[in-house]
Amino acid sequence: MTELESLHFQSVSFTGLAPGPRLIVLGAVHGNETCGTQAIRRVIAEIESGQLGLVAGSVTFVPVTNPLAYARHQRIGDRNLNRNLVPTDTPAEFEDRIANWLCPLLAQHDALLDLHSFHTAGEPFVMLGPQDNSGTLEPFARSAEETALALRLGVHRFVDGWLDTYAAGVARRLAAGVSAREADVHYGVGTTEYMRAQGGIALTLECGQHDDPAAPAVAYRAIHNALAQLRLTSAPVPAAVTDTEALRLYQVIDRAHAGDPGEGVRLPQASCSDRPRCAPQGGRAAGAPGGAKVGAPDPSTRPIIVLAQGLGRVGTNEQWRARQDSNL
Ligand SMILES: [Zn+2]
Repeated sequence: MTELESLHFQSVSFTGLAPGPRLIVLGAVHGNETCGTQAIRRVIAEIESGQLGLVAGSVTFVPVTNPLAYARHQRIGDRNLNRNLVPTDTPAEFEDRIANWLCPLLAQHDALLDLHSFHTAGEPFVMLGPQDNSGTLEPFARSAEETALALRLGVHRFVDGWLDTYAAGVARRLAAGVSAREADVHYGVGTTEYMRAQGGIALTLECGQHDDPAAPAVAYRAIHNALAQLRLTSAPVPAAVTDTEALRLYQVIDRAHAGDPGEGVRLPQASCSDRPRCAPQGGRAAGAPGGAKVGAPDPSTRPIIVLAQGLGRVGTNEQWRARQDSNL
């Protein structure tokens, strides 16, 4: 049996007796990010044993979204599943085959919780979608619902600005004459962007560092809280977190272009007038002028560098946090 013949796609669905929203929870979109897988399997066992009741709607769990990457204990199989996520009539890479299975499945649901972990130590955070808008890049009309869910996942740090920041990088590369599939904003479409394009709400939860023993518990709590918030279980609706920290992506650099002019590691003085929408929900976020510094590019082969600029923690050294990350 070949490696591919040993692989399969698995989803596990539960449907309550009463009508309600349809939630889908993904683990291991990146194969070395297993906290979501662990948490999903724990919740499945609770439902199957009767310890946790699903009273309305439905929930679908995908414990291992990228089985090739998972089997190899690495981030990707042939490519990053969380980019250029779209069905195709001509699947070439393994992730194309995943997309042809996963995209129709996502489209059957109303809400997505996508569970990840990250490379460098830090606290968990939620990636938010755009504010409501009727633009062409990522039109959206459900940001209130999405933010309400985000504020109840149990984490305090929120990051937004993914696709528009990615698009700015694309525009920069195009202006520099780069011709590659990464110079297409659609390459920035991952699970959450696809889900929103299908009319759903979608959140990526980065649960902690890959090997953080607390990360599976962060994922587990988020699943329970999402089920309660969407009224799929009879548990009390969780309270929104109040002590929030808002970050906004500042620059997205594809690793393949890290050496391109204009793609260097720089974060000049930046305006922070554009506050993330979650900021008013909590206490500490506050825009202020300033700059940020980042370290050297990661020498590994991970494909993306993401820099985020902090808007919170006024008066501390972390006020102008800059991140170099590769986990998204
Ligand atoms: Zn990930």
